[in-house]
Amino acid sequence: MRRVLICVSIVASDTAGAIAIMQQAAKDGADLVELRLDLMSKPDVDALLVGRPLPVMVTCRPVHAGGGYKGSKEERLALLRRAMELGAEYVDAEPDIVPLLRGYGSAQVVASYHDFNGMPEDLPAVHRALVATGADVVKIAVSARRIEDNLRLFSLLRQADVPTIALAMGEAGLLSRVLQGRFGGHLTFTAPNGGQAAAPGQPELRDMLEMYRVHDIGPDTALYGVIANPVGHSLSPAMHNAAFREIGLDAVYLPLLVEEPRSFIQSFVPLGFRGFSVTIPHKQAVLAVLDEVEPLAQRIGAVNTVVVRDGRLCGYNTDVAGALRSIEETLPAGVSLDGMNALLIGAGGLGRALAFGLTDAGARLTIANRSFERAQQLAAEVGAEAVPLDRLADLKPDLLLQTTSVGMSPNVGESVVPYEMLRPGLIVYDAVYNPLQTRLLREAEQAGCLTISGLGHFVNQGARQFELWTGRPAPREVMRQAVLQRLIHRA
Ligand code: NAP
Repeated sequence: MRRVLICVSIVASDTAGAIAIMQQAAKDGADLVELRLDLMSKPDVDALLVGRPLPVMVTCRPVHAGGGYKGSKEERLALLRRAMELGAEYVDAEPDIVPLLRGYGSAQVVASYHDFNGMPEDLPAVHRALVATGADVVKIAVSARRIEDNLRLFSLLRQADVPTIALAMGEAGLLSRVLQGRFGGHLTFTAPNGGQAAAPGQPELRDMLEMYRVHDIGPDTALYGVIANPVGHSLSPAMHNAAFREIGLDAVYLPLLVEEPRSFIQSFVPLGFRGFSVTIPHKQAVLAVLDEVEPLAQRIGAVNTVVVRDGRLCGYNTDVAGALRSIEETLPAGVSLDGMNALLIGAGGLGRALAFGLTDAGARLTIANRSFERAQQLAAEVGAEAVPLDRLADLKPDLLLQTTSVGMSPNVGESVVPYEMLRPGLIVYDAVYNPLQTRLLREAEQAGCLTISGLGHFVNQGARQFELWTGRPAPREVMRQAVLQRLIHRA
């Protein structure tokens, strides 16, 4: 199988800036760079190309095609022809000027089409028109409105009989960038490490190389991902891809921006997806799509893990075991959840899961939630007591579990727990793990409580997912480090 090329698109306002980014991209492992002459003031083609450290694609997109070049067609042609004379490996041009570039050098001429607002109805017709220009490579860059739009690009790539690049811009199009090679695409574009993206949705080079391992993705690579909306903040791709890499598995894990889980799962499982993580807001809705659901997940009414097994969709909930394990590991010797007075704050997806897990483990449970009726309903289901959120200060639990999203980045100054409740010896668990130390955990530590961050839970639930998907022991420490690194990088 031919390896897909990784091309760093360079956005720089002048020649010197572009050269600096190109030098760095070469060190960072790019296969080639795209030099966007149209975004530079007075681009010096000779300075850019002579002594270049990497193969280049030279682009000078006019304003009418979505670029920044305001000069005449003749001036644009002159820049591209000069690049060809200097041995540029690729030049990218709009269809009308492709035939005018013949005979100026050995560059592969890329005929490109862009749609910054959506996708044309007849994508194959657009492809045929680009092929008819006689270009060596055809590039189609459209905008994905929904994740399902990627399917049309994949089908185009599979059928193309000339080298083709078919990408969707935007968050929903990330899949097309990462899986370009899997469907036979010629190359994929990335942003430089720490630099500006040339198009919406371009990941950084290091993520393409190290996290998604795009060079290693082939037709047999097993696909996994997290179904969520929003999904951009998810740490699951970093965690699971690090685990796949550690044990040398031919698999990749993707963030999947999904609006409707039924249509997504039905159309994407046939592509080679073997499993999914499921999170907000799809944990309940996904149940209706599944063939089998384990009894615990059925009782909770929420699934966070899907395994595709012999064509059947099987649902699990790994949050319960993941959270309880992280709590039990921290309890002082001789102390167990059995008989413990536990206060659960939150009755959302996670709150529900923990309410079942804690009562099954024998804890005496009180549930508080912003919407009191929700707390009452859950309490009735598991045989617990419900209290309004503003009555927390009256309670004296042994264990406090915070499962609301309060305190999560960017609202790091918030806490749902009154400081007066915090006393030495109280065990405080916070499901929020971004930031690692929430305001609640900081205050709890100051007050002499034993604190448990949501990180352990996150890694445990992910490790269990990994084991369900692969049947292999999860490399927990590698997963933990991958999450920690992302959190530190973001802080
Ligand atoms: P969810 O189903 O959307 O539930 C959200 C919960 O937060 C509800 O109880 C909601 O109360 C409450 N809430 C939201 N805003 C609030 C506010 N301003 N004041 C008081 N309560 C508020 O979400 P979820 O799946 O249960 O997740 C909840 C949190 O747990 C998230 O931060 C998530 O990242 C975290 N989590 C962590 C892990 C982990 O591995 N550590 C795993 C799963 C979830 P109402 O019912 O009144 O709306």
